[in-house]
Amino acid sequence: MTTIATQLRAVTAQIASAATQAGRSPESVLLLAVSKTFPASAVREAALAGQRHFGENYIQEGVEKIATLSAMADLPCLTWHCIGPIQSNKTRLVAEHFDWVHTIDRLKIAQRLSEQRPANLPPLKICLQVNISGEASKSGCTPEELPALAAAVTKLTNLQLCGLMAIPEPSDDLAQQRAACAQLRQLASDLQPPLATLSMGMSHDLEAAIAEGATWVRIGTALFGARDYATPHS
Ligand SMILES: *Cc1c(COP(=O)(O)O)cnc(C)c1O
Repeated sequence: MTTIATQLRAVTAQIASAATQAGRSPESVLLLAVSKTFPASAVREAALAGQRHFGENYIQEGVEKIATLSAMADLPCLTWHCIGPIQSNKTRLVAEHFDWVHTIDRLKIAQRLSEQRPANLPPLKICLQVNISGEASKSGCTPEELPALAAAVTKLTNLQLCGLMAIPEPSDDLAQQRAACAQLRQLASDLQPPLATLSMGMSHDLEAAIAEGATWVRIGTALFGARDYATPHS
């Protein structure tokens, strides 16, 4: 087995064990493999080992990988998630190439994605990003802004609002990790109607996130290794 295949097995086992400990079925937690900064060959290895969902942060880099991978006839169809910030001039690329967007925090971007989603594709699946830890991350709407943003996004025809996403402030303390994830779960269940999808949990806090109800964990480092940011991304 390749290193990526071995690490994929280990992460899958870690997710299953955290789910079982939380009294949840392992299938209720989906693994999003975060392939940002890694080449198409790494995605290919993970896909050959059975991984189907991939997350990219940098739009241009993601679109190039999507094109490369979808041209490989021996691979099954992969599902692509945009998990990075989206500027207005990148919405068309996202609408045309991705299946999910986890990082909607402004109505304007959502409106552009809905307008630019090609008619032959299913609605783009959406998570609203919430800034639950306050100052730690500049991205994400505030909990106070969330209900109005959710109501407005629900009305957009070519988007399907599925859930919420957060990047909590990094912490080594399990209780603190859980508190942040619990806050996102509460926000999702307080919405009318409540949202079922919770995109939270990364390599360092996936146990806490799963204990608090994560349905997507977004894992990069534990699958692909440490990232090298030396080369520029767009
Ligand atoms: C990079 C990234 C991840 C993956 O983080 P790891 O710590 O490498 O698992 C998850 N979510 C988002 C939004 C990211 O940007």
